[in-house]
Amino acid sequence: MAKPIVAVVGRPNVGKSTFFNKIAGKRISIVEDKPGVTRDRIYADVEWLNNKFTLIDTGGIEPNNNDIILSQMKRQAEIAMDTADVIVFMLDGKSGLTTTDEEIAGILRRTKKPIVLVVNKVDSNKLSEHFYDFYTLGMGEPIPISSVNGLNLGDLLDEIVARFPEDTDEGYDEDVIKVAVIGKPNVGKSSLINTLLGENRVIVSDIAGTTRDAIDTPFEFNDDKYVFIDTAGIRRKSRVNENVEKYSVLRSLTAIERSDVCLILIDANEGVTEQDKRIAGYAHEAGRASIIIVNKWDLIEKDNNTYTEYTKNIRNQLSFMKYAPILFISSKTKQRVNKVLEYVKYVANQHSMRISTGALNDLISEAVLLNQPPSDKGKRLKIYYGTQVSVKPPRFVLFVNDVELAHFSYIRYIENQIRQNYNYEGTPIILESREKK
Ligand code: GDP
Ligand code: GDP
Repeated sequence: MAKPIVAVVGRPNVGKSTFFNKIAGKRISIVEDKPGVTRDRIYADVEWLNNKFTLIDTGGIEPNNNDIILSQMKRQAEIAMDTADVIVFMLDGKSGLTTTDEEIAGILRRTKKPIVLVVNKVDSNKLSEHFYDFYTLGMGEPIPISSVNGLNLGDLLDEIVARFPEDTDEGYDEDVIKVAVIGKPNVGKSSLINTLLGENRVIVSDIAGTTRDAIDTPFEFNDDKYVFIDTAGIRRKSRVNENVEKYSVLRSLTAIERSDVCLILIDANEGVTEQDKRIAGYAHEAGRASIIIVNKWDLIEKDNNTYTEYTKNIRNQLSFMKYAPILFISSKTKQRVNKVLEYVKYVANQHSMRISTGALNDLISEAVLLNQPPSDKGKRLKIYYGTQVSVKPPRFVLFVNDVELAHFSYIRYIENQIRQNYNYEGTPIILESREKK
């Protein structure tokens, strides 16, 4: 199920970054230890009272005069309106309501998305007289908070999660494979989609009754049903926004959230960039199946080593997703484009594959014999048994005598054993250890 996305919008200096860091710092669960995942906090995974959501930071660009502030705000608000499920509109309780705030409110009023009005910098329980001005925006009850003191943040989080969409169900049948084509501007996303849809074995279909008809493209291939997620967004191309790197990353987030399989496009000419890493990192953290697609392969002059060197380089740069197959294609000459959907089908199967508890425990017993579990102060890790608790992505729980002893490296070893026996190509695997007395 897709995690809701929450965006914070507001003019410079109201305290958006402070708020973001406060929330992220406390409850962040970004996998910071994994090499290769950029730490740049463009988004944070937040969990509040069993509600998981992604908080995105739309700010961060320093405008230096009023015109720029406004156009900047406009973009920020539009991104939020496009991608977020809930928008937090932040105001400054110290300076009170300004005309820029009113203009932002004007833009935000066009959205049907729920908006939470929040007044920051209310550092004590006493409300200033400014506070009541914020009611005149007509956007509901403003919530006073202090990002610095952490005052009222809990109330705000309650209000945010209360506004999550009831049903994040996509409306697609279980057997429809949802594919997100992601990557930076000009990498060839729309070319690839067009080339794929133009293949004669692909039947563009209507899947009736979905709420997403306008933005997705459903199709069939070899009797299997697929849908390209958010194709309208890719084709629409708001050039202005896309050029700001951060915004194009944010745009990918919604598509990733809604997908089963991500096609991560890399421009063969440029190799893996920071922006590519961010996008891939999100797909990984979101637990989606991924295929790394190096597009524009026709532009590369090749010798005997090109392929090997290129592959090695990608593995280094995207070291956190060694499980993802790499395809070198050209959307222009159609080289290997016919492989893409075969791979999609394959990794989608791997993503939803189950191992029986019996088979898993045979594997664990053997792994333990081959390589003794770690011990500390005379106490040795015991794995009583393991079981696969879910799919998409495959998640396993190992019941152990002491979680402190279940070191990362040993868990990684078990993961490798699982992969050696069952492959799980294209998908991350989650392994948790739990104590059983
Ligand atoms: P942004 O431009 O909206 O991201 O704003 P920042 O987070 O950079 O904050 C702008 C200024 O407001 C900084 O000097 C912060 O320390 C200050 N600030 C942020 N939140 C609070 C708050 O809750 N109380 C007070 N007194 N100052 C705050
Ligand atoms: P998007 O912004 O990611 O949707 O990228 P587009 O599909 O619009 O492609 C950007 C540019 O790259 C266009 O000029 C395409 O013609 C070109 N392009 C896309 N794929 C290929 C490819 O495989 N080889 C070459 N040489 N050019 C390509």
